[in-house]
Amino acid sequence: MPLSEESDSPSATVHTPARLESTDPATGDVVGVFPVHDADAVRATVERARAAAERWAALGYAERRLRLAAYRGHLARRLPELADLVHRENGKPHDDAVLEVTLAVDHLAWAAGHAARTLGPRRVRPGLLAANQAAYLEYRPLGVVGVIGPWNYPVFTPMGSIAYALAAGNAVVFKPSEHTPAVGAWLAAAWRAAVPDVPDAVQVVTGYGETGAALCRAGVGKIAFTGSAPTGRRVMATCAETLTPVLMELGGKDAMIVDDDADVAAAADAAVWGAMSNAGQTCIGIERVYATSAVYDRFVGEVTRRVADLEPGSHDRAAYGPMTMAGQGDVVRRHVADALAAGGRLVAGGTVDGRFVAPTVLLDVPETSAAVREETFGPTLTITRVADAEEGLTRANASSMGLGGSVFSGSAARAMDLARRMRSGMTSINSVLTFASVPALPFGGVGDSGFGRIHGEDGLREFSRAKAITRQRFALPVPLMSFARPAPAARTLARVTGLLHGRHR
Ligand code: NAD
Repeated sequence: MPLSEESDSPSATVHTPARLESTDPATGDVVGVFPVHDADAVRATVERARAAAERWAALGYAERRLRLAAYRGHLARRLPELADLVHRENGKPHDDAVLEVTLAVDHLAWAAGHAARTLGPRRVRPGLLAANQAAYLEYRPLGVVGVIGPWNYPVFTPMGSIAYALAAGNAVVFKPSEHTPAVGAWLAAAWRAAVPDVPDAVQVVTGYGETGAALCRAGVGKIAFTGSAPTGRRVMATCAETLTPVLMELGGKDAMIVDDDADVAAAADAAVWGAMSNAGQTCIGIERVYATSAVYDRFVGEVTRRVADLEPGSHDRAAYGPMTMAGQGDVVRRHVADALAAGGRLVAGGTVDGRFVAPTVLLDVPETSAAVREETFGPTLTITRVADAEEGLTRANASSMGLGGSVFSGSAARAMDLARRMRSGMTSINSVLTFASVPALPFGGVGDSGFGRIHGEDGLREFSRAKAITRQRFALPVPLMSFARPAPAARTLARVTGLLHGRHR
């Protein structure tokens, strides 16, 4: 049944005829109809959130933790219903949607359970020069956090910001992608049902880019943006108008390095999952593999054998679903054509049938071609032969993006060394994407993949501001910061500094 947000939506008081229709990418069936919120509606929503933010922050960590647990419980109990909605609106297989919601619930639990310890007040050492002071540090909430999300993981991705922002004491106004507004509306309705005493701490505004831009201008404490780099640039420019801080979670072109002594079958299995699951529409999906000469042929054989069994579709046995956005098939077509024109070889797939893209494997594509340089966001993989893992690392790092990545190696020490030197925010060794499922680990990229972090302690701090306080315990016999300072004080200070620090060369 199509969902509708007509009655209790923020735009109920705004007379705008604009409506947003969300459809099932596999069937074209209407999933729901939602308002397109204009700037006034967005501002009104943020104002309600501002009031809720004060109440939410005043509850304190323990009371917030109880309510976040109620939200988590609500999501867990209705997991099949939410997974079904994700399946219908985004197109991914139902089981993948279950995994996505499960991960989001786990993050919610971690964020709620670690907020007090990470952000709460603590005393820090005042140091010698301020020995008469007690020094305190705490992390205060920002107020209202605006979350602008994509459609590819419509629960997990925004929850990476929403859960951590809430746990840090903020209210949230969430602008889901225009391709997945029903999931966004469901998440906000779930909040109202689970936490009825602070219903406006999580609200949703729906619409296209203009609604997102209005959220950037609405006076929020921070915008947490997840999406493509071109849109990220526009979001930053809009936020610059009001000096609104931004968190940028952008696209990736993640690489896997397969070393001489790697478990080749395991690497191939992981590469195929990393590249093809969710129809390749994964920001941390594996899009490039650099396999050493020693394992290249075996690796290509294992990958092509595995992808032969993969069938895209919207039925129960489908490995992955349709492309969520109609135009995404054209991007895949362009990248494949460009790769082949440049001398690459196609060993699997390469075909696009409506919204469904066959699992596609390209070999020896020049590093200058779009299939290696640009985010494809489809079920495609390039595999390139390299002399050794070091060359693989150099090529992996020669990207403007740096989100995640993977290293397969038989040596833990060698793999750790490669992982450390990989120019990305996250790396999995002997697996793919696993860093995203560890709530304690921060998630985010470098370069064109963005900046700032969700998840983990860094993710909690991302949605707060450090507050420093000193409290004088007793007056110094010789006041240093006073016009009453005696003349010799500076000379004594210079002598002490020389004794303490002067011996270091
Ligand atoms: P997108 O950039 O097209 O849109 C993202 C969101 O921004 C949508 O909600 C959209 O309505 C909104 N938006 C568009 N124009 C805007 C504007 N001018 N001002 C404010 N908001 C605006 O991205 P998408 O197609 O929804 O998502 C796919 C991209 O997201 C891929 O590049 C993918 O790699 C990336 N992604 C990154 C992460 C990460 O954590 N780094 C996670 C998931 C997806």
